[in-house]
Amino acid sequence: MPNPRERSPGPGEVLTALGHLARGTVRPRPPDARLMASIADAGLPAGDRTVTVRALPQVTRRVPATGIVEGAAPVRRLESAMTTFVVEHPAATFLVDPGFCRQARDRVLTELPFLTRLLVTPPRTTVSTVDGLTTRPPIRQPDFALPTHAHWDHVCGLLDLPGLPVLLRDTEQAWILDGERPVAGGVRPALTDGRPVRTYGLDGPPVSTFTASHDLFDDGSVLVVDLAGHTPGSVGILARTARGWVLLAGDAAWHHEQVDRLRQKPAFPGEFVDADRDAAFATLHRLHLARHRMRIVPTHDSSVSTHLCR
Ligand SMILES: [Zn+2]
Repeated sequence: MPNPRERSPGPGEVLTALGHLARGTVRPRPPDARLMASIADAGLPAGDRTVTVRALPQVTRRVPATGIVEGAAPVRRLESAMTTFVVEHPAATFLVDPGFCRQARDRVLTELPFLTRLLVTPPRTTVSTVDGLTTRPPIRQPDFALPTHAHWDHVCGLLDLPGLPVLLRDTEQAWILDGERPVAGGVRPALTDGRPVRTYGLDGPPVSTFTASHDLFDDGSVLVVDLAGHTPGSVGILARTARGWVLLAGDAAWHHEQVDRLRQKPAFPGEFVDADRDAAFATLHRLHLARHRMRIVPTHDSSVSTHLCR
């Protein structure tokens, strides 16, 4: 199947989003007190099995805060990166968000609409997932990959890891195969071309403030939890480590400041990247309430992920 090319937003849509961006800069969307009061805390699983969570080395760039956190001062800059994580459990080692491939400019970025490409093209020094795996101390060969969601910058590193099995949430697989808007940037080739893809559902009970879970090893050490909104099947990977619980939160937030201050992504580019803005904002409330029980690590927030590099 030829790679799909995403539709570029029309000038009208861009103007509307820019208007919302200006409004959000002055008056960010306020927290929903009723929703907040309705969110229960189901607690964390018992047990003593721990895993290690490491971030592969990555270059950081400083980007305008106004493009990441609604209402942030225009002159501020925040750190951002394309990080891949490695989780080591005695039974298996797996990658979370294998997000960058070699020669990405030619292989995947050309599929993205011009405006998106302009906004998201990372520096030429960005480390591909496969090269990051050669880091020291050495990492055990991964047994599978577990993307938090199926956007190009969370799966295209798979293009350099042929045959590596992928675990994908059922809702997310249905979305990339049947969704009305094509998901571009090497997503379908990374997830379909002859690769073993095993789907799972969130078949477990609520955990912490999250409504559903999936216990990956049946021992309470690694749980996949529902963070829908950014995409229909977005998940977080909640892992018990020797230093406490860590939640790899994908793009449910781009930066910890969104979680701390309960600020959604700005309308531009948020309205083009969040599949459901209201659901994404509701998920942000759940992260906000859970933040004291776990270290929340948005995939692109290198100010947090660098703590996992050692
Ligand atoms: Zn992303």
